[in-house]
Amino acid sequence: MPRRKPRPDPGPAARPLRESQSYEAGPDGEWNVRRLTGAATGKTYRCPGCQQEIPAALPHVVAWPAAGDGEDRRHWHTACWSARERRRPRS
Ligand SMILES: [Zn+2]
Repeated sequence: MPRRKPRPDPGPAARPLRESQSYEAGPDGEWNVRRLTGAATGKTYRCPGCQQEIPAALPHVVAWPAAGDGEDRRHWHTACWSARERRRPRS
């Protein structure tokens, strides 16, 4: 029996924009986390972890308190979100 061929990858440009939301609990609370693949919204966000801008096209993380209503969203660099326990946001 020949093995089923993997579907050819059409590449990032052909893939539909996908968002996946998950729930993460950490020492700083419980969060809803959405990983964005990068959308051409034309907006840039400022990462609370490093205070640098996140170009909208860059894949990044949106997080908001799980107990909240989603209005307090923060856009983070993926790496900064992962490292937030070491590098807390300045508020
Ligand atoms: Zn950052």
